[in-house]
Amino acid sequence: METPPDYDVAILGAGPAGAACALALHGHGLRVVMVDKAMFPRDKVCGDAIPGLALKALRQLNPAWHAELLATLTPRADTRDSRVVAPNGRELRIRWQLPTFNSARLHFDDHLLNLVRRRTNTEIRESYAVRDVHTTAAGVQLLPTDSSVAPITARVLVACDGANSVAARCLTQRTIDKAYHCAAVRAYYSGIAEVDGTTTEFFFLHEYMAGYCWIFPVGNGVYNVGFGMLSEAVARQRVDLKKMLPQLLATHPELARRFAGAQQLSEVEGFGLPLGGRPRPLVGERYLLCGDAASLIDPLQGHGIDTAMQSGILAAQQVVRSCQQNNFNHAFLADYEQQIHHKISRKLARSYRLMRLVAPRPWLMNVGFALARQPLLKRWLLRVAG
Ligand SMILES: Cc1cc2nc3c(=O)[nH]c(=O)nc-3n(C[C@H](O)[C@H](O)[C@H](O)COP(=O)(O)OP(=O)(O)OC[C@H]3O[C@@H](n4cnc5c(N)ncnc54)[C@H](O)[C@@H]3O)c2cc1C
Repeated sequence: METPPDYDVAILGAGPAGAACALALHGHGLRVVMVDKAMFPRDKVCGDAIPGLALKALRQLNPAWHAELLATLTPRADTRDSRVVAPNGRELRIRWQLPTFNSARLHFDDHLLNLVRRRTNTEIRESYAVRDVHTTAAGVQLLPTDSSVAPITARVLVACDGANSVAARCLTQRTIDKAYHCAAVRAYYSGIAEVDGTTTEFFFLHEYMAGYCWIFPVGNGVYNVGFGMLSEAVARQRVDLKKMLPQLLATHPELARRFAGAQQLSEVEGFGLPLGGRPRPLVGERYLLCGDAASLIDPLQGHGIDTAMQSGILAAQQVVRSCQQNNFNHAFLADYEQQIHHKISRKLARSYRLMRLVAPRPWLMNVGFALARQPLLKRWLLRVAG
């Protein structure tokens, strides 16, 4: 790279991590470009439950942006309550502390990106698929799959390109570790019996314990229905998740009754979840990884939109310091890795240990549910489970 880089910061990926990073970079006078291979609105296979901590991160960044998102985002289902069904069929009702909602990612991610469009000077390049990433002493270069399109150069890269991150593959040689990876599928349904449109439901199953089935309302009478489990267990039990979901809905005693008159509105689609819980390199010379590209999904519950947004914001803060001091070396960027460790990864490691403890022992979960009938123990268990 002989000429000076085109931009100060390149954000690869415009999902929750990338959008939060772009929002947090606003006001620092940096030239920022954000690229995504998709044209928005774009779908993303997900449970569509937007964690309260994701909304809290946006509110802390700028309360007006949070209010703007809430005022414009439809359809969505405001949810505060969960119903969790243990392997033995016993149920637990939970009221979460933080207000939250579910929204199809088709809409949520588009609204978040619209905030970036409206409220920042970020240059957004859609339909820009990156096939390779190079870092040099002078900067970072993003090479597009379309060779007729010019590469992008920047002083530093914030990689937010999700579970199959090209950046993580090129820069850290990341491969899938099935002990720290989930596979999950979902489809949209309407006409499910005994739903109220505001409660999220989780079903743990005796025979597939390192995972759960979910029914999440997303507004307008539509439900995101899915199933996910640890990839290690998928391989060991030879489960075909795409076939298994409709079978489960047709045979599980409670679900079969409730889905008898339901309409399936979309294909069953699957995607991977890179789980947190063990140390990984998150920075190197001129780059930082965020969100799924940094494997920050909660191993117990499978949520990652919150950690994606939190890490995008922490990366932006680091990038501002780096640009101010013109220091992009590994040791300086390692401050971001430390922040992630303290604020996110330690909790994910606890979740991972808990998931590993409970997964082979359905009886333990049944006992936990029985204990949770005591209000004090329920509060403690909820704190432990995050
Ligand atoms: C089935 C399933 C259910 C889930 N349910 C939930 C849930 O209910 N709640 C929750 O909080 N989390 C859930 N998750 C996890 C959640 O989806 C992710 O943690 C979250 O999307 C991470 O955000 P991100 O910005 O890091 O990545 P993404 O949202 O994946 O965004 C990455 C972006 O990068 C772009 N990109 C990728 N590669 C390239 C490339 N080569 N060139 C250019 N652009 C590229 C993509 O187009 C995409 O827009 C679920 C995941 C799955 C698979």
